[in-house]
Parts: sequence; structure tokens; C-alpha cells
Amino acid sequence: MTLIDSDATGTTPTGGPTLAQERRLVTSLPGPRSAEILARKAEAVPVGVAHTVPIAAVAAGGGVVLDADGNSLIDLGSGIAVTTVGSAHPKVVAAVAAQAAQFTHTCFMISPYESYIEVAEALNRLTPGTFAKKTALFNSGSEAVENAVKIARKHTGRSAVVAFDHGYHGRTNLTMALTAKSMPYKSGFGPFAPEVYRAPLSYPFRDGLSGADAAALAITQIEKQVGAENLAAVVIEPIQGEGGFIVPADGFLPAIVEWCRANGVVFIADEVQSGFARTGTMFASEQFGIEPDLITTAKGIAGGLPLAAVTGRAEIMDAAHAGGLGGTYGGNPIACAAALAAIDAFENDGLIERAQHIGSILGDRLRAMQTDDPRIGDVRGRGAMTAIEFVDPETNAPDAALAGAVARACIQSGVIVLTCGTYGNVIRFLPPLSIGDDLLNEGLDVLADALAAA
Ligand code: PMP
Repeated sequence: MTLIDSDATGTTPTGGPTLAQERRLVTSLPGPRSAEILARKAEAVPVGVAHTVPIAAVAAGGGVVLDADGNSLIDLGSGIAVTTVGSAHPKVVAAVAAQAAQFTHTCFMISPYESYIEVAEALNRLTPGTFAKKTALFNSGSEAVENAVKIARKHTGRSAVVAFDHGYHGRTNLTMALTAKSMPYKSGFGPFAPEVYRAPLSYPFRDGLSGADAAALAITQIEKQVGAENLAAVVIEPIQGEGGFIVPADGFLPAIVEWCRANGVVFIADEVQSGFARTGTMFASEQFGIEPDLITTAKGIAGGLPLAAVTGRAEIMDAAHAGGLGGTYGGNPIACAAALAAIDAFENDGLIERAQHIGSILGDRLRAMQTDDPRIGDVRGRGAMTAIEFVDPETNAPDAALAGAVARACIQSGVIVLTCGTYGNVIRFLPPLSIGDDLLNEGLDVLADALAAA
């Protein structure tokens, strides 16, 4: 059994025993206690709220999730890229407890407080671009994207919005329209918000195009089907999350940004999944040399507390009139305290370097597996946001059945992995940056075994 230093991984908040950093299965999954809880879930919670891992979680930290039966699973998902600093980072735990004891809520729109302003100042400083910026806080990634579109529409006086193939932006009405994939996100839930158009993405593994050629294709389609004069904003994930960790070819994003600038269109980077050190830079946009007009963030921002933000050029952010932005809970003080602690960790605990190191382990090991196994068509991503795309080696056709079988086998062996991709044939790796190298490597050993057996 390996015990990891509490400062690096997060312990129980009351100073209880450090969570053992080990994969340990004492039952098959789900164990009896988890099975009992999940049976109650089936009775009490609608089927629409599905789950991937058949356990009931009771604790998490470092690189493991503990279930109600005492099973300890290696976490390569971070609750979908949220617990980047870890699930119980000591700084976050302390900040949350201290703030909860002071006050839990006043509503920032009624009685403002300093921590919200400090989070805004930090985001204005940390996001790409040295121009004057402002930040508004919300509760979820979807809400941030909705508000970014509202702001862009008010600023430009135009209504159309372009999103891209394979894009994912949320499950609210406007963000369902922006999201590309029908099942399970949209099917049967329409009608969707109007004035949303879709453009082709650069997908090097499947389109074989240079960034410049892919951008030219997208721009021509936008000009012909929408018209720049009608377009308020382009919304794009610099590296796609749910769509399959697609990294656009070099030059694609800068060409889209340049076209937006030339046509008075607001360029919105959705960094809800790729932001906050995950890709080995504070924001993925930096790796493509782009400075978005607006950037949406959430997930990794607050160490697991619900918080989201829109940050961008001050003159665009100020287009919305007083009272036009906000919400009862947006920028909740406990979430802001957590965000300030998480940002402290990102900036001062070497987490950007940690994401790069994790990325090199993931990249090396997954590429080695690819060399021996032609069913791995592509290894891609950046830092601790890396994925493998499974294909039929003969035809290159997506192999969702294989991805699903391998992911299920990993989970049954005590390693949490998530699938993604329009075709469901991608396994993505999003470990918390607090995971130890040993545990990460053990998780990848389990993946290799699952792949060999599949
Ligand atoms: N945008 C992106 C890029 C995302 O990955 C997600 C969540 N997976 C969202 C928006 C929506 O965020 P939320 O689930 O917090 O509403």
C-alpha cells in the first residue's frame, strides 16, 4: 500500500487518515452496498441522469475514488475534467470550510463581496491577451457559453452564431443547439434555438487537410450559408472535449480568429474542458497562439465546486446593460473561495509542469501501445487531456464497440476511464494532476491488458 504525502494529494478535511493511493478491489463492481444505493437511484432518479461507473462514491483524493464497499479505483477521469487539482486539495478544502463559516450566500447582485472580484481579477490576468478584460461568473459551463453568446449578440447587434462539427457546449436549450451530437444530448428535446449554424472542423486524422485548407473550407461555408454581416460569434473548443479530443491542424484556429477580426465577429473559445492547466498551459488557446475575444471556463476552475466564467475584452463584456447578466448563485462565495485556492495551486504548486509530465507519460505509453496494435488509429491531445481513437484497421472505420468494451473492462478492473467522440470510439484520459506516476502507470497497464483481451 502506498501512502502519498497529504499536501500533494488531498486528505480527508478533518485530518483523518490519508486516502491510500492504491487500486484495491474487494468486491466485483458494484459491490453489495453500492448495488443497494444504485437500486435506490433507479427508483428515485430519472433514467436520463445516467452513470458510467457502477459504484457509489464515498471519498476521493490524489488519484483514487473510494466506493461504499471499500473498493479503491484509479481515477483517470477527474469527474469529467473537473478535479484537476485533486478531489480534496487541502487548500480548497480549507478555503471552503473557512468561507462556509463566514457566509454561504448574499447574492453578488445584491450585496457584492471581494472574493468574486478577486476571481475576476485572476481570470483577467491569466487568460491569453494583454488587452483590458472583464469577467462575469456563473454556475456551469453551459451557462457560461449561453452568456458569452448573449454578450456577443448585444455587442455586435447581430444574431447568428456558428459552432463546429463534433462540438459540445452543453445541455441547455441554446447550448444543445450549439452541440453537434444528437444522441444522447439532443434527440427528442427540440425545437432548438434558432440562428445557430454549423461549420466543418479541422480533424487531421480523418480529413487529412492542412489547417489553412480546413479553415478556408469553414470560412467559405460560413460566408455562403450565413454571411459575415449576420454573424455575432464563432464558438469553438480549441481542443474538443466530448467530440473526441480533436486537436485542429496547425494554422486552423489562427485563420478563423483572423477572419473573425476582419469581419467584426466575436471569437469565443470554449475552454470549459481544456482550461486551467489541463493541457500543459494555463489555457489551450496559448498553444495555438490565439487570443480569443471571449473565453468560457468552468470545470477545473474551482476544484470541484460549481463555478463558471466568461472573460473577455472589456469593451465587449460591457456591451450588456446593467442587470442583463447574472443569476442568483453566479459566483457563489464558497465556489469563489474554492477557485482562489485552486488558482493558487495552479500557479504555485507546479501544476502546469505536472500536466506536461503526465502528458509525456500518457503520450509515450499510448504511442507504444499503438505501435503494437493497429486498432489504435490515433493518439492525440495535449498534456493531461489525451485520448486514443479506435478503428477497424482495414477500413479506418470508427470502432465504438471496441472502445466501449475496453472502457468497461478497465472500470471492472478498478480504473475509471471515459469514452467520448461523435462515433463513441475514443477513450479519453483526464487524470487529476494530483495522481502519482505509479498509479497512472498502473492504470495504463490495466488498459493494455484490457486491450489485449478485447
Ligand atoms: N463546454 C464544454 C467544452 C464542455 O466540455 C462542457 C461539459 N462537458 C460544457 C461546455 C458544459 O458544461 P456544464 O456541464 O458545466 O454545463
